[in-house]
Amino acid sequence: MTRPYYIAGNWKMHKTRSEAAELARELTARLKDGKHKYLVAPGFTCLEAVGAVVKGSNILLGAQNMAAEEQGAHTGEVSVLQLKDLGVQAVILGHSERRHTYKEDDELINKKVLLALKHGLEVILCVGELLSEREAGQAEAVCRTQTKKGLEGVSAADLARVTIAYEPVWAIGTGKTATPEDADAIHACVRGVIAELYGKDAAAKIVIQYGGSVKAENAAQLMAKENIDGALVGGASLKADSFVPIAMFG
Ligand code: PEP
Repeated sequence: MTRPYYIAGNWKMHKTRSEAAELARELTARLKDGKHKYLVAPGFTCLEAVGAVVKGSNILLGAQNMAAEEQGAHTGEVSVLQLKDLGVQAVILGHSERRHTYKEDDELINKKVLLALKHGLEVILCVGELLSEREAGQAEAVCRTQTKKGLEGVSAADLARVTIAYEPVWAIGTGKTATPEDADAIHACVRGVIAELYGKDAAAKIVIQYGGSVKAENAAQLMAKENIDGALVGGASLKADSFVPIAMFG
């Protein structure tokens, strides 16, 4: 089964509106003949500006997070309705910075996943172990649990709008990358979880991105692995010159 490659840029808390729009303009021009699936996830304040640039292009507009409630008294949060109003098509949920810095647990992340899917968004659900968990031999168990709990209550039909991103926490923003073999082993394990929950066909179809210090120099080797279907890119997504070679690989 051939799955599409899906390459996403997570711009985190970088860029003003004009800087974000400029990067989006460069990416739409340079990726217009790209043959993979693409997404950029600017900060909330830049969504409208970037959305206006990528509209009608082959680049999806993504958000980096959203609230677990539809609307109401939630100071400082951003709702799925507000994201949809800006033309957002997908949302990254369970990023390790949300899990570990902002203490989001599997239950909260699952609530967000269900809400995003209910409103028709695509979801990139991030899973990944800490260095201490890897060293204790728990990497697979952690990723299994995060995948299972994150997807609790997701129907087989809605799973078609879910991408999993395996991002070992120790590889994010550190310059350390999992070896293609180690990453592929976790991807295979996550695919196995999907097979247990949804059957073999769903497991064969689900796209699993790798994230953690992906750059042009290591992207092709990672994505050559059987179970690695794309990349979620942080640092290298902030400049077209470093993101485009990853996005145009192959
Ligand atoms: C990320 O933030 O999802 C990420 C993988 O970051 P980086 O590529 O900088 O490691």
